[in-house]
Amino acid sequence: MKLSKYYMPTLREVPADAEIPSHQLMLRAGMIRSLSAGIYSYLPLGYRVIRKVEQIVREEMDRSGALEVLMPAMQVADIWKESGRWEEFGPLMVRFKDRNEREYCLGPTHEEVIADIVRDEVRSYKDLPFNLYQIQTKVRDEIRPRFGLMRAKEFIMKDAYTLDRDEDGLDKAYQNMYDAYVRVFDRCGLDTRVVEADSGAMGGSGSHEFMVLADSGEDDLAFCTECEYAANVERAEAALEISRASKAADDLAETSADTSNNPAADATTSGVEIEKVHTPEATTIEDLVDMIGVSPEKMIKTMAYVADDQPVVALVRGDDQLNEVKLRNHLKAIELRPAHPDEFPERFGSVAGFIGPVDLSENIKIVADRRIQELEKAVTGANEKDYHLVNVNPHRDIAEIEAFTELRTVQAGDPCPRCGGALEIKSGIEVGHIFKLGTKYSSSMGATYLDENGKTQPIVMGSYGIGITRVAAAAVEQHHDDRGIVWPLPLAPFQVIILPLGNSGDVGRAAEEIYEELQDAGLEVLLDDRDERAGVKFNDAELIGIPLRITIGSRSLENDKFEVQIRRTGKEFNIDRSSACSEIENLLEEIE
Ligand code: ATP
Ligand code: MG
Repeated sequence: MKLSKYYMPTLREVPADAEIPSHQLMLRAGMIRSLSAGIYSYLPLGYRVIRKVEQIVREEMDRSGALEVLMPAMQVADIWKESGRWEEFGPLMVRFKDRNEREYCLGPTHEEVIADIVRDEVRSYKDLPFNLYQIQTKVRDEIRPRFGLMRAKEFIMKDAYTLDRDEDGLDKAYQNMYDAYVRVFDRCGLDTRVVEADSGAMGGSGSHEFMVLADSGEDDLAFCTECEYAANVERAEAALEISRASKAADDLAETSADTSNNPAADATTSGVEIEKVHTPEATTIEDLVDMIGVSPEKMIKTMAYVADDQPVVALVRGDDQLNEVKLRNHLKAIELRPAHPDEFPERFGSVAGFIGPVDLSENIKIVADRRIQELEKAVTGANEKDYHLVNVNPHRDIAEIEAFTELRTVQAGDPCPRCGGALEIKSGIEVGHIFKLGTKYSSSMGATYLDENGKTQPIVMGSYGIGITRVAAAAVEQHHDDRGIVWPLPLAPFQVIILPLGNSGDVGRAAEEIYEELQDAGLEVLLDDRDERAGVKFNDAELIGIPLRITIGSRSLENDKFEVQIRRTGKEFNIDRSSACSEIENLLEEIE
């Protein structure tokens, strides 16, 4: 390809609204342009990269036995109503009506379409298993589209769906796809880590995410520093440390089991009465620490939420953070949001900043983190402006705790749930996600088959996604320097760029000649034949990240030499003009 005839609108300046390197560099390299927030066109250079990712994914899917299909982006509401997700998907789904008032969405994912495709056709156990995949545009009305291709409203996804007779079959299919994913990301030159994941709105029993570690990643991941445990923080749990205080209390409870009605024994553990204390303006944990000198781990943080229009309070220790994903999963809530301060008096009978779980109205559900169980003589809000309660014993004083469950977000240093080693937290970009769906969709949508005994069984499904466009962006995040992108060879839009410098006819002819020769050898070559200054050509070549650069100037040409530079290492050397093509081919092998 000749740059004089190419469309590659590079930018010198960093675009103001681009916050992370991949977004900045893909705009600057003229690879993408935004039509509006989160909606992109892939320009010639960018689309070549996207197609490389697609090709790698396609080859590995085919190799794993998956069959390529293409399903509609426009989906009828009926199938989503059948599965129950028309409501569940909420505002993320783009919905519209046709001229006859029939409801549709632009597919954010395709489980329902798959269930619909197979439900009328698959009859017997002999028709199973199989695996269908597609590479297709998805639409999601993201609350905060940002970071360029990372979180877009419209993006390209590879989604695959396995259909099996039973859980055993699903386990095999899942492992097969897991292995294919490892190969895909490896071939894309991405360094990924696999983590246990939350299944979110997909439902199902097991799920893993493939993560690219990067500071710009929007996911927090917990890794054990001593064993293989790795999980998305949405799901990660720490081992429950039994603090010495509560262990002593347990021991005491055991030895005094037969005297449990003895008020004296009670007094040693929790006999101190609740007291209301004046805490003017102390609406945060920090304020309270300063004012009454109690440490955060002795406080009960009470978080007010509205879950599907019902008031709920969640309790975590003052030094912990509530994990909304865990709360949502526990409540099985579709819509979960923090309560607005205005809602406190009427819905919670309380005041923002001073809410507490003692003597709350009966219609408010209370769920508590497991660690609340261990607390004694704790501090919490008194549901009255400028007051807190001290000496609160959750078991004695909070009557209606629905459950003690895992609600907190793990923190660096927490003990690993497998081995007790310290957890560390890193940021990651989710490039792939695999789910064991089970029978959620097949049961609700009637996708069944007859087993060997003639009995009707629901098909057991799995679902597997790769963000194709996000992979391209993640590759830039992982491979760039201060001069631009450094494409891993398998994703590079072109393998070689030729820069003829100056306007000598000899140089031009030599450049054309090697350009033809490399193309004939099957390489992807860009020839910068633009009438531009050398500086501009060098800058653009580095910005767009082509792995090998050949520079041809009149001086080295006199000695029948070309100058070659490897983008990643910056290493420069001369090659003979006569053997240039084979030397370039060898170099590319080495880079790979
Ligand atoms: P996220 O948690 O990042 O919102 P998700 O878990 O909702 O993603 P999945 O439903 O698992 O996404 O989709 C499969 C893959 O599609 C993801 O692993 C990711 O690579 C990609 N993807 C999802 N949403 C977007 C988006 N808004 N823009 C670009 N790629 C996306
Ligand atoms: Mg996901």
